[in-house]
Amino acid sequence: MSIGSRSIKRKLDLRIRKEAQKSLRKQEQLLTALPASCLKCGCEFNKNEQSNLDSWTVSVQYEQNEVELICPTCNEANAA
Ligand SMILES: [Zn+2]
Repeated sequence: MSIGSRSIKRKLDLRIRKEAQKSLRKQEQLLTALPASCLKCGCEFNKNEQSNLDSWTVSVQYEQNEVELICPTCNEANAA
């Protein structure tokens, strides 16, 4: 009994590790898929500008493996 439950835990452990690795890879994938411009108006996104990282809206489409970037201007227009 104890051997059995131990092996289940071990399997579960491996599974979680595998999942975590998968999602880490997914994160990397998504980061490289980061678009260079706003989805709506096409204005340029400067990755090196810290203020851009804070003000731009990033939305992750996990299923499509895509990242959408919306500039603050379009974001405000959207909210209005
Ligand atoms: Zn825009």
